[in-house]
Amino acid sequence: MNFENIRTVCTTVLYMVSSVLFIRGIKLLGKADTARKGNLMSSVGMLIAVVTVLFEKDVTKTVTKNGPINNAYVWGVAAIALGSIIGAIWAKKVEMTGMPQLVALFNGFGGLSSLLVALTQYMTAENINTFSAIALGLTVAIGAIAFTGSVVAWGKLSGKMFKKNVTIPAKNAINGLLAVVGLVGVAIYALSIAGAVDASVGTIGIIIVTAAYLILGFTMVVAIGGGDMPVIISLLNAFSGLAAAFAGLSISNSVLVVSGCLVGTSGLILTLIMCKAMNRTLYALLFSSFGATKKGAAGEQKEPKSMSVEDAYLILEAASSVVFIPGYGMAVAQAQHAVKELCDKLEANGAEVNFAIHPVAGRMPGHMNVLLAEANVPYEQLKTADEMNPQMSNTDVAIVIGANDVVNPSAINDESSPLYGMPIINAFEARTVFVLKRGKGTGFSGVENPLFTNDNTVMIYGDAKNTVAQLVSEFEE
Ligand code: NDP
Repeated sequence: MNFENIRTVCTTVLYMVSSVLFIRGIKLLGKADTARKGNLMSSVGMLIAVVTVLFEKDVTKTVTKNGPINNAYVWGVAAIALGSIIGAIWAKKVEMTGMPQLVALFNGFGGLSSLLVALTQYMTAENINTFSAIALGLTVAIGAIAFTGSVVAWGKLSGKMFKKNVTIPAKNAINGLLAVVGLVGVAIYALSIAGAVDASVGTIGIIIVTAAYLILGFTMVVAIGGGDMPVIISLLNAFSGLAAAFAGLSISNSVLVVSGCLVGTSGLILTLIMCKAMNRTLYALLFSSFGATKKGAAGEQKEPKSMSVEDAYLILEAASSVVFIPGYGMAVAQAQHAVKELCDKLEANGAEVNFAIHPVAGRMPGHMNVLLAEANVPYEQLKTADEMNPQMSNTDVAIVIGANDVVNPSAINDESSPLYGMPIINAFEARTVFVLKRGKGTGFSGVENPLFTNDNTVMIYGDAKNTVAQLVSEFEE
């Protein structure tokens, strides 16, 4: 066996090892108690893949239009070190409430790196075939849309840009035109590689697809608002995976194809699950703006009733069944540990306690599950809307902790509401509903919530953590 064969066998085996680690890692991410292990496993897989690429390129001194690749190790190690330092600092510093925008930004970086890989391949590769050229053009397109779309999503979620819903006149026509123009750019480039048109025309094709899809990412996401943002983030995640898979095809790198497909398909599956959870179709999400035409019925303006913590305690003390319904405000207040303490007090007092978790409560899928797991709430106590809703009318007290949109009854009974059709936790059916929030702020969608003025609802105003801690101390007195 000569050196070339040994090298090919080694890289193939190492690529296979990292692919297996990715697949196993994703499987382990499916459960809270194995998620850390899954994350670590996938990271090791990525490290092996990157080192293998360096080994392959440097050892063989891959030749490009601009000469052989030299010192790939130096550049590679520097990039790994820089990325790891920035990533570690960021991950340490980020608040749980800031995770969605960080995820959005990471999707954007994924898209940007695929875009850069494709553009570098375009500038340096020799003897590229038509199939690779099409894959390269599609990498540019999907990478560009994932990049600008994710940056806009980050701006919206962090409140740094586009705080108000932006409406683009004839949005669908503009987006459709950009999509088609970009694909024409891909076709022109592929024709230039096939020799049908001049290479300089191919360059124009690449410029067209890059510009069209960078703009498309912006116009597509900027007009999406309210409750649709979580789904769009997951779709952008799928795009960044798809871009990586096409990048893998264009540079003939199997491990990039595998990892890109894993991210692309899991992102797509999550997108569809979330669409179902919010009763939205992917079509409606992309082609009609959330709440653009509907404002929700004005209705009679009633004032919500409020109650002191002392009085709320008396009701809770007599309750035999209690359901906690957490939302974004619980994450903001970091109230999960206090909530667990209250849960323990209620159980010690003889009450049956459950948690009703809406799939899009908070600002990212699984947000509430992660917070409550951190506070050691047993996983079996976390119930879905389907499990809890039938029991809600037999519940003595539903405690809504910083949730709003996910308990808005307009989703069921007000056809004019932008939330109409979204599944909710039926808190309004409980005998008594406590709503813990700071004031009269609306939820993420900006839609008023009639639950707060129902006869069986009382508001307990204040920061959720303080309110829950005060309830705990009432039990201790
Ligand atoms: P909402 O955003 O609807 O409501 C949160 C409520 O928490 C607000 O009304 C706010 O009222 C209250 N609040 C904020 N801070 C505190 C605090 N310190 N103490 C007590 N209350 C507080 O949250 P939900 O979880 O009900 O709904 C999530 C919404 O976000 C849905 O529309 C969903 O589609 C969307 N979304 C979901 C994502 C996901 O993937 N899960 C991602 C992005 C958006 P006040 O200001 O009066 O205190």
